[in-house]
Amino acid sequence: MTSAAAAAATSSATKMFSTATDNCSHRIFLVTDLQVRRPWRSSAFLRTSRTICTHACTAASPRSSSSVINELANIFTAMATEASAKVIDGKSVAKEIREEIASEISRMKESIGVVPGLAVILVGDRKDSATYVRNKKKACESVGIKSYEVCLAEDSSEQEVLKYISGFNDDPSVNGILVQLPLPSHMNEQNVLTAVSIEKDVDGFNPLNIGCLAMRDREPLFVPCTPKGCIELLHRYGVPIKGKRAVVIGRSNIVGMPAALLLQREDATVSVVHSRTKNPEEITREADIVIAAVGQANMVRGSWIKPGSVVIDVGINPVEDAESKRGYRLAGDVCYEEASKIASAITPVPGGVGPMTIAMLLSNTLAAAKRANNFQ
Ligand code: NDP
Repeated sequence: MTSAAAAAATSSATKMFSTATDNCSHRIFLVTDLQVRRPWRSSAFLRTSRTICTHACTAASPRSSSSVINELANIFTAMATEASAKVIDGKSVAKEIREEIASEISRMKESIGVVPGLAVILVGDRKDSATYVRNKKKACESVGIKSYEVCLAEDSSEQEVLKYISGFNDDPSVNGILVQLPLPSHMNEQNVLTAVSIEKDVDGFNPLNIGCLAMRDREPLFVPCTPKGCIELLHRYGVPIKGKRAVVIGRSNIVGMPAALLLQREDATVSVVHSRTKNPEEITREADIVIAAVGQANMVRGSWIKPGSVVIDVGINPVEDAESKRGYRLAGDVCYEEASKIASAITPVPGGVGPMTIAMLLSNTLAAAKRANNFQ
């Protein structure tokens, strides 16, 4: 950015801030003599600036005017240059990882005559679960992992599931065991998941694995696939994590909580936003890295995003779409259209975190097979 543009942005921000603090009303946003191109036409810009100024005026402990002006100036700059975030392409990174895994599996097969095996247990007839299992099976085949599948009726007993898990635990050709969630409501998920041998817990959901993830100087045998995929994307796109402010939105056992633990292990300063958080927008706007795993389409608006931050959107939410053949399309937890104008990099939905989850499952299965066969 030229120094003239920077000066124009700062001058506009100062003007907006002083008008806001004089007036503290939304009318200030009708100001039209700001010396940057068109930013006030953007609804994301309006919402962001309004929140920042209103908060600066009304907060119990108001921020210094220079910090508010700096923040506004950054937003002006981002909007005036019509910045568009780099797309973090999970689909192509996942393909690259699958190729790396396939070549490791060929090397393993040639050296010791063994290929990894993954067993998947599906209970019930949920269509989405059946699709996930089918995709996992296909992905296994594509890299040379042998897959074993058990499909049980919805009214099967927990004992029956435990019997299959026990069989796979004892089978040396099976290196990873995955129980597709959710289980029918009459089953105790905790009993079932803890029955999976920790050496074969490629989903990383065993409390021992999560415990090791949370503790310093401990190494989990496996890290849950979706959060592992998020961090892998940050690594492969060269996003620095150490010392950065990170916000994870969502604290589920399978995504939010392990994602926060992983970021902390990489020396980020991490905040977790959940359904009872009072000021999620303000907290999120402090983040250099945002991981959103909420399950609510487009909840995170452009106004939540700090200019230049990196956004990883885990959400997969069906939203009605009459133009789509299926009658719906998939949307993330982040409003892509708005956030991509403010962030420096962002994952799309679909094509971001989703393909990485499966790639990480394959990677965990390969790691399990290498460990079981003492193969480096
Ligand atoms: P859960 O429903 O288990 O957890 C959602 C989390 O979001 C909870 O911690 C909840 O808080 C929090 N939350 C809900 N509403 C709000 C709100 N208004 N403000 C702030 N936080 C809120 O979901 P998952 O973690 O399993 O999944 C999240 C999303 O990620 C879904 O869209 C899912 O489809 C997707 N997903 C995608 C995967 C992939 O491969 N890309 C894999 C797994 C999930 P609280 O704890 O207080 O209830």
